[in-house]
Amino acid sequence: MLIIGSHVSYKNDTQLLGSVKEALSYGSNAFMFYTGAPQNTKRGEINDLITVDALSLMKDNNMDLLHVICHAPYIVNLANNLDLEKYQFAMNFLRQEIERCITLGVRYMVLHPGSATSINRDEAIDNIVYALNKILMPDDDIVILLETMAGKGTELGINIGEIKYIIDHIELKDKVGVCLDTCHLNDSGVDISKFNEYLDEFDREIGINKIGCVHVNDSKNPLGSKKDRHENIGFGTIGFDNLINVIYNERLASVPKILETPYIDKELPPYKHEIAMIRERKFNENLINDIIENK
Ligand code: FE
Ligand code: FE
Ligand code: ZN
Repeated sequence: MLIIGSHVSYKNDTQLLGSVKEALSYGSNAFMFYTGAPQNTKRGEINDLITVDALSLMKDNNMDLLHVICHAPYIVNLANNLDLEKYQFAMNFLRQEIERCITLGVRYMVLHPGSATSINRDEAIDNIVYALNKILMPDDDIVILLETMAGKGTELGINIGEIKYIIDHIELKDKVGVCLDTCHLNDSGVDISKFNEYLDEFDREIGINKIGCVHVNDSKNPLGSKKDRHENIGFGTIGFDNLINVIYNERLASVPKILETPYIDKELPPYKHEIAMIRERKFNENLINDIIENK
């Protein structure tokens, strides 16, 4: 069974229940959410009564909580410790985010490893390792999925070597894994038309069993462009067939596939139509129009 969904919203009043309803409206059996706005760290209290309703709605629809993924806000940067107060804030915030996930019963949290900004890359990666080792506790039922990054600016985690280094230096190894992002891989220089070769290398270096999520996005930019701008499925430089081969790759069959493709005209979510197209395995060149006309 294909495990597929998209990024969905999470609002303070409807919380996980709102997210589940949105995911179901797209025909999803998985989804990813932020516990608040991705670009800030304001977070509300979790209401357990709402969580109970969300879990029962999921049960009614055969949606598995293991296929629900939280994404840490992307402003949390564990890589730079020049401003110690900021570094400590990032660590505290991530610790609280882990506790929110545990409260919700969500096991997987995607994290952008961080950006070196003004310090050297090796030191910056060691800061990420230090922070994760400080934050993770032996009893946490959580897996932090380090996302493969495009290489924009001073981003870290932009190749197998950097991701491997972080994982190799984490003490609680069962609490770290990887989230592949097809747009980021393409932009960092991985040719998605040779995805199986990439998986072979990943398996040799890190282990395929470490992959806990795949972000399926087309890219607006060419291979190796280091840009990170997502495109709708089949409308970018990766292309429909290459993305279908990732989505239906048997070695990743048990891993949730999550779309983070752009809204149409900044207001219409494309996910219902994209998921339908993926399930049919047939590219719909009229997708954008169909979304606008809600066919
Ligand atoms: Fe991400
Ligand atoms: Fe992503
Ligand atoms: Zn991205």
